[in-house]
Amino acid sequence: MSDCIFCKIIAGEIPSEKVYEDRDYFAFSDINPQAPYHILVIPKKHISKIAEMEEGDKEFVGGLFSTAVKICSDKAITDYRLVINNGEGAGQAVFHIHLHILAGRDFEWPPG
Ligand code: AMP
Ligand code: ZN
Repeated sequence: MSDCIFCKIIAGEIPSEKVYEDRDYFAFSDINPQAPYHILVIPKKHISKIAEMEEGDKEFVGGLFSTAVKICSDKAITDYRLVINNGEGAGQAVFHIHLHILAGRDFEWPPG
């Protein structure tokens, strides 16, 4: 999508601190980190939010989680929180699905 900032990050049109990339996924540091380690994992395919996922997108969304686990495993990070916000009311600000990886501090439950 031409006006999506995360599509522009994938295309290299907006700079990012890349931590991982393969054929289907891209991961980079969050610009406004909420934990010492805060990474966003996104599918290269533009899907606006998890509720917009279509039948054929399921593998991409499932792969977000296995990609996050791989990234953490490669960095020997054992304790982490994975978050997807769906919709503005839940805190979604960028409408290209992204999985937050948060680590490096203690977390509270329930989240705010
Ligand atoms: P959400 O609120 O779940 O939609 O998360 C969007 C996240 O994208 C926020 O944590 C932002 O800090 C992050 N973000 C927005 N623009 C950029 C950018 N250009 N580079 C890296 N992270 C970004
Ligand atoms: Zn996009």
